Amino acid sequence: LSKEEQAVLDEIDERNVDFLRLQFTDILGVVKNVSVPAHQAEKAFTEGIYFDGSSIEGFVRIQESDMRLVPDPETFAVLPWRSGEDGSAAGRLICDIVDTDGEPFVGGPRQVLKSVLAKAEEMGYSVSIGPEPEFFLFKTDDEGNATTIPHDSGGYFDLAPKDLASDVRKEIIFTLEKMGFEIEASHHEVAEGQHEINFKYDDALTTADNIATFRAVVRAVAAQHDLHATFMPKPIAEINGSGMHSHISLFDEDGNAFADDSDEFNLSETAYQFMGGILNHAPAFTAVTNPTVNSYKRLVPGYEAPIYVAWSDTNRSALVRVPDAAGISARFEVRSPDPSCNPYLGYAALIAAGLHGIETDADPGDPVREDIYEFDDEKREEYGIETLPPNLGAAVEALEADEVVSDALGPHVSEKFAEAKSQEFSEYLTQVSDWEKDRYLETF
Ligand code: GLN
Ligand code: MG
Ligand code: MG
Ligand code: MG
Repeated sequence: LSKEEQAVLDEIDERNVDFLRLQFTDILGVVKNVSVPAHQAEKAFTEGIYFDGSSIEGFVRIQESDMRLVPDPETFAVLPWRSGEDGSAAGRLICDIVDTDGEPFVGGPRQVLKSVLAKAEEMGYSVSIGPEPEFFLFKTDDEGNATTIPHDSGGYFDLAPKDLASDVRKEIIFTLEKMGFEIEASHHEVAEGQHEINFKYDDALTTADNIATFRAVVRAVAAQHDLHATFMPKPIAEINGSGMHSHISLFDEDGNAFADDSDEFNLSETAYQFMGGILNHAPAFTAVTNPTVNSYKRLVPGYEAPIYVAWSDTNRSALVRVPDAAGISARFEVRSPDPSCNPYLGYAALIAAGLHGIETDADPGDPVREDIYEFDDEKREEYGIETLPPNLGAAVEALEADEVVSDALGPHVSEKFAEAKSQEFSEYLTQVSDWEKDRYLETF
């Protein structure tokens, strides 16, 4: 056992952990668990724990289903909401997946991100990401099912007494802190019942792990209060949706490779190249960062979500915004991702796009200072501003047409992902919505 693995075994002992959740994520970003008694921990580290990969969406066929979960000791955490009355506790470990040949499984989302990060490292960089996930807290009905009735009637940055959910949010934050999160900020968002919690930036892999954990914690704490927390991007029409703005910077041996104090926006040549790559490949990575039919109901004008492929230092209608920060904090914010995405694949796609920008000396052009929501087609054309794909179907086509992003996901994931998402979109197209019935049933 490595030093880290031994430390986990010691902690399992010390904290009376009797039960372990071995956690991983399928291609669609759904968190899966295999539970084992804690005394299996040593075996998990040395041999891995077998599971049936064919039962996981997008993994493998029946005949190659013997896969193993190998826990990453750095991800050990005790689940604060699962301690027993006898002082026993449950722990969790995030796992990598090993295939029948004992190789890292190419279809594992965490592995996909690791491969892109290995490429960044070859280029001399580590990648930092700080996310701003937003979510809604809704009431549940008498049967315990989720409604879309907001839990409170607060607004942006409102404080008590209107922000009834601030107690729940406080509890979410304390729970996260017990699990090792460093919470930077949290506030009520624009819409009723909508919240945002920002945690400290970290290397991209840790941040993706943290997002998976974050979603589980938010849901678990909300459920204890008979609330339903949702990361669905646009639960209510005509009201702000939930995004997951992601602040990115690259570090090299000299520090923040995105920082240059002599630049008007404190950004370096490398930062602009990376941003250029993001803008060039935005239509292609959107399928990954905004992977549901519902994601595209958020990406519409007027709700602080981006549609236009441009950057700005001031306005929030652009895809990329440069906050007022310098030195170690110099960075930019990509505003399109939403919290329904698979964070591993989403970040793999974003980072691959940016790295390609560095390799090809991509140019993001000039910042757009005006509100692009107000532009007409002609003006957009004059400024050369493209739009994000209007729906999931178009997004999947853009992904399939883009080699840089598809290669970053690898053939296995690209193919399975596109297949699942095309099917999801076709299924949606055949549905008859309430809107249609309201509009047409009595008219025709
Ligand atoms: N909710 C908005 C979105 O969909 C963001 C609002 C904000 O953080 N200013 O991206
Ligand atoms: Mg924010
Ligand atoms: Mg926000
Ligand atoms: Mg933001």
